Amino acid sequence: MNAQKLHKQLLVKPGRPVVLDKLDPSHTFGWEKTDAVAKRLVENTARIAELQLRLFAENKRALLIILQGMDASGKDGTVRHVMSGLNPASCQVTSFKVPTDEEIRHDYLWRVHHVVPARGEIGVFNRSHYEDVLVVRVRQLVPKEIWKRRYDQINDFEQMLTENGVTILKFFLHIDKAEQRDRLRARLVDPAKNWKITRSDLDVRRQWEAYQRAYDEALSRCSTKWAPWFVVPANKKWFRNLAVSEIVRAKLEELHPQFPKPLFDLTKIRIV
Ligand code: ADP
Repeated sequence: MNAQKLHKQLLVKPGRPVVLDKLDPSHTFGWEKTDAVAKRLVENTARIAELQLRLFAENKRALLIILQGMDASGKDGTVRHVMSGLNPASCQVTSFKVPTDEEIRHDYLWRVHHVVPARGEIGVFNRSHYEDVLVVRVRQLVPKEIWKRRYDQINDFEQMLTENGVTILKFFLHIDKAEQRDRLRARLVDPAKNWKITRSDLDVRRQWEAYQRAYDEALSRCSTKWAPWFVVPANKKWFRNLAVSEIVRAKLEELHPQFPKPLFDLTKIRIV
């Protein structure tokens, strides 16, 4: 397994424009759905959990994982599969919905900043402040003069977080329109999935092109050295899970969190 290679293949190089239409959502970079891959995913989950414990014990740094993608691209499924080994005590998943009355009265980063993971924690954003240059742009919820400044503001915000001990990984789960059609149809026919379908999914699907172009710009302008974007081909769920888990694992290994040294000489202690 060559995690480093996968990292490079999926990374949006800072400054390099992204055109999603040119990226194949079914690409698996030569990987196949084998038992070895399934085993690797299980290993990754276990290793991520182990590193989470160290990160928590070290209590100095945090990891923020941002998931974005069209409806039915698998954001929830990624959380379920990749983060399943995490201890919920030091991990928080936040889903960003239509802003509440109170949230809308503040600047768009207000609701984001206070749920950024604290030292020792892992935070997962299911949608994020990127909605403020995606749905907000496509549906013209604020004038262009306002949203067009947000790319730089987001880069500055993320840089500030990084400089204060928060490592950021951002994943765009890339599916195509046909795959979304099949997944939305499955939600219509499967009673266990009916609840997932909303009217807004259907409106958003009608504006597929506008969303893809908004994603092109967000991915192109906001993949930075300090907070990179990865475009993960997500038509195949097994590859999506493998790719995200490889990159998260590799990043945690690079952070190399350490258990703190005991505050006193343990050899002198006797427990009776
Ligand atoms: P899911 O994330 O599972 O699709 P919902 O069906 O509740 O959850 O969808 C959340 C909705 O909230 C999405 O349509 C998304 O575009 C919308 N949303 C998130 N952030 C914002 C925002 N800042 N402004 C407007 N709408 C937003």
